[in-house]
Amino acid sequence: MRPSVKPPIIWLNVLLFLTTFMAAIVAVPWYGIVNGYQTAHWVLLLIAFSFCNLSITAGYHRLWSHKTYQAHPALRAIFAIGGAFALQNSALHWSSDHRVHHKHVDKNDIDPYSAKRGLWFSHIGWMLRHYNKETYDDYANCRDLHKDPIVMWQHKYYLLLALLTNLGIPLALGLIYGDVLGMLLIVGVLRLVLSHHTTFFINSLAHVWGSQPYTDKNTARDNGILAIFTFGEGYHNFHHIFENDYRNGIYWWQYDPTKWFIKSSHWLGLADKLRTTPKIKIEQAKAKQALKLALDKLEDRPDMAHLKQALNDEFDLLMRKLKDFYELKRQLLEQKHHGLVEKYEHSLLLIRYRQLKDECKAQQKNWNAMLTHC
Ligand SMILES: [Zn+2]
Ligand SMILES: [Zn+2]
Repeated sequence: MRPSVKPPIIWLNVLLFLTTFMAAIVAVPWYGIVNGYQTAHWVLLLIAFSFCNLSITAGYHRLWSHKTYQAHPALRAIFAIGGAFALQNSALHWSSDHRVHHKHVDKNDIDPYSAKRGLWFSHIGWMLRHYNKETYDDYANCRDLHKDPIVMWQHKYYLLLALLTNLGIPLALGLIYGDVLGMLLIVGVLRLVLSHHTTFFINSLAHVWGSQPYTDKNTARDNGILAIFTFGEGYHNFHHIFENDYRNGIYWWQYDPTKWFIKSSHWLGLADKLRTTPKIKIEQAKAKQALKLALDKLEDRPDMAHLKQALNDEFDLLMRKLKDFYELKRQLLEQKHHGLVEKYEHSLLLIRYRQLKDECKAQQKNWNAMLTHC
């Protein structure tokens, strides 16, 4: 068998990841013991860390890679600077990788950070060698981004911006607070290492640890704990099936600060055309996945044929109820929008709407009860 030849190592990346990581675990605590840190160091760390990570999640990821909303040039410029500060390559380069990841998820030879190649590879290994060199020649899968002057400006001056932000910001803060080395270590090094690895978690841990409520056709998982460290990106199972949604955590109680940031930007007039997935599609995906899991469990049980049939029947009924309910809801909203119908007719539709809503809830309850028996 011919031994597989690994692509050449990217020494710059190896040195960068290694030196910053070592500095974060050795020099940062050492300086703290010897000189101590003030509250300002920690507050500025939190601000700089949030600036970097939100630029990646709300900017690189949900805006540029997936176009889940449109952003004002001022916001795009902030993301471009924050993305360079996060030191994760240009938005064009990042988005190109990420679009390939979604299109060919888990395909070892194509997905740039395929989770099936192991935790180390998907977390950081994929950046240590020239694995995907040919895809960066013309960024053909990002033609739309070529038209964004801010993306192209950042791509052109990426190195300069990265140096200016990573050295300039901690240096300036160090001079203001009279502790240059302390700020370089906390806002420079520690912030970078934390920002890197929490983002990398999305490619590694969010593909192995958590639940799969929407689909198991790929390795992506939903994980509420990871969402805390990743600004909401831990709801990765939802994201991989509905990638055009500006939210990852769709329920109000799910921790998704990126979603809240985009929504707040919308209220401030900085973001527009926020895209969401129709609720019916979400409900359908969830029920379909639950049915699949239940039937899988009963696969080798010929004695359970009646239960399998009942499951299929309840599922079909749920789908019908959901379809009727959301169709009527759509009609009502349309009529409200155009003011098309008489009051009397509208009242009748409202009564029917409430009926269907109750029926849907009842059927959902039946369905959940049925699932607990499997
Ligand atoms: Zn994505
Ligand atoms: Zn993914």
